[in-house]
Amino acid sequence: MTVLHFAEAMLPEGWARDVRVTVADGVIASVEIGAAAHGGDERHAVALPGMPNLHSHAFQRGMAGLAEVAGPGDDSFWTWREVMYLFAARVSPDDLAAIAAMAYAGMLETGFTRVGEFHYLHHAPDGAPYADRAAMSAAIVAAAEETGIALTHLPVFYAHGGFGGAPLGERQARFRHDLDGFARLLEGARAACATLPDAVVGVAPHSLRAVTPEELAALELMAPGAPIHIHIAEQVREVEDCRAWSGARPMEWLLDHAAVDARWCLVHATHMTADETERLARSGAVAGLCPITEANLGDGIFPAVDFLAAGGRYGVGSDSNVLIDAAEELRLLEYGQRLERRGRNLLGRGGSTGDALWRGAVAGGARALGAASGIAAGNAADIVSLDRDHPAFVAREGAALADAFVFARGAVDCVWRRGAKVVSGGRHVARDAIARRYAATLRRLLA
Ligand code: ZN
Repeated sequence: MTVLHFAEAMLPEGWARDVRVTVADGVIASVEIGAAAHGGDERHAVALPGMPNLHSHAFQRGMAGLAEVAGPGDDSFWTWREVMYLFAARVSPDDLAAIAAMAYAGMLETGFTRVGEFHYLHHAPDGAPYADRAAMSAAIVAAAEETGIALTHLPVFYAHGGFGGAPLGERQARFRHDLDGFARLLEGARAACATLPDAVVGVAPHSLRAVTPEELAALELMAPGAPIHIHIAEQVREVEDCRAWSGARPMEWLLDHAAVDARWCLVHATHMTADETERLARSGAVAGLCPITEANLGDGIFPAVDFLAAGGRYGVGSDSNVLIDAAEELRLLEYGQRLERRGRNLLGRGGSTGDALWRGAVAGGARALGAASGIAAGNAADIVSLDRDHPAFVAREGAALADAFVFARGAVDCVWRRGAKVVSGGRHVARDAIARRYAATLRRLLA
């Protein structure tokens, strides 16, 4: 049993002082408020609940920064995707484990304690399944195990290269499945996750481009009660192609044809009409926002003010992992709205914006990943402490600490995942070994 004592903590009911958190077998047994530290308590200054990272493609961490060179024509999402395909073609299961471990260690260092791995790199480079169909899933699980991050594994079904069942391109062969093969993959992924504490396995139709309506209906039945994630309405061209195919916009089509509810996470949802925004909010689904990647890819700006006004839920994801930083995702989410609307404090619901963003994304992210959240009895002890000595935190307390963390680049001190301290002094405890293996892997892959 471990007891952590925090001078201040962000609890579900509000900020509290002198908080004693008793942890047994990785789970919070009790939270005492206004309690002095006992002799054996481990004392820290400020606690936040761990942040779920609801959307990651871990392998893309290895190509971070490689698509920032202008090509001969106009650069776009689609030219970025070409660079991604070239890199993806080289990655083996061992390479993936090394790259994902680096990405996950980095996530933990910024306060992410669970990752939703939207995993589509399944097969060998020639498109043939590995002898163990779930070999690449097992690599993701190994990286989660090594780093300690909680995993919601989201095997991706990817069968087509465009709306209406268009065939996949040659470079998409590593992603390809039919429904039978996918069912076997899912079985393998579940087996790989079986011994990983707190693991959740969901299912992810890649996008409306990549699945037919019949396949989407079948996928909904393959993981009863589990999270369903889908990329949607990220690109204007995708919206136009969907209209050409069906007469409807992607979000409109999905809300009309699938039972979208709290199990669903709609990733990006950038291009929506006012009506779609309202309907998505009412559905109970979580909008999976990835502001850094959406900015990097030039996707557009999610209508967050209207979505929140309609009662919508959201979480954040590091997606392409070009930059991994939980607070930065929230900062950019708010700043996108400010730049577009020429206003301030737009997502704070009347109080502290940093506090509201952290709480909102913790709750929405946990819902999207099929997990509980918050520093409360019964939940896994997934806790982030802030570095009280960082200049950004001087003379701040309570919600003002959250504002300083999100907007003024304060720093993380320690991170506990299921009660184990996996980050200390801002560094993952296995960072050196993970970084060495990552460097050797990348040098070989990019030689
Ligand atoms: Zn994505």
